Amino acid sequence: MRPTLFVVTGPSGAGKGTLIRRLVERRDDLAVAISATTRPRRPGEEDGREYHFLSEEDFLRRVRAGDFLEHVCYVSGHRYGTLRQEVERITATGRSCVLELETQGAREVKSTEPEAVTIFVEAPSFAELERRLRERATESAGEIGERLALARRQAEEAADFDHVVTNDDVERAVGEIERIVDGALAAPRAAGKLLSS
Ligand code: 5GP
Repeated sequence: MRPTLFVVTGPSGAGKGTLIRRLVERRDDLAVAISATTRPRRPGEEDGREYHFLSEEDFLRRVRAGDFLEHVCYVSGHRYGTLRQEVERITATGRSCVLELETQGAREVKSTEPEAVTIFVEAPSFAELERRLRERATESAGEIGERLALARRQAEEAADFDHVVTNDDVERAVGEIERIVDGALAAPRAAGKLLSS
């Protein structure tokens, strides 16, 4: 089976990370690409595990070197990006790659890798999304406000992606994503640029 790129997107607080962790725990044919970011490390996070934490200078140097499949400047001016070498590291072993991206990055990947499968994860309601974001509250009050405003805008973008999954119940939602993955892996596809070599 040809490795596929799965992009899980949606508003911050919808629970993308939890669903992806559960998904890859269940399957050895999938792995998550570790993104690079310039945002500060949160308590409990480790460099090279949640993210590759880069300085602004290093991040921009790697942008200039063409190392990123996509990158964005997001909340509070922090940068996030997918390193090509991360995707290649995973697909070289025959596994499919899962990316967790905000919506702009997801669109960018879809435009350069049209065979990528995009999955938009939404919270069951905006009130629930807000509750989850406030509960997480690792950021400053200003940053939470910014994330909420962004989440509200992003929640309206669902229709632009291949699939929409409502994260009302984690097990149910993971099951739904797994069926999407199985369907995509079983379907014949044209080779994309990144995955064709
Ligand atoms: P957080 O700061 O909460 O870890 O992540 C903030 C947002 O950045 C999340 O919506 C997450 O999906 C997104 N994100 C994480 N890594 C990347 C990346 O490599 N590229 C893009 N475009 N978004 C990312």
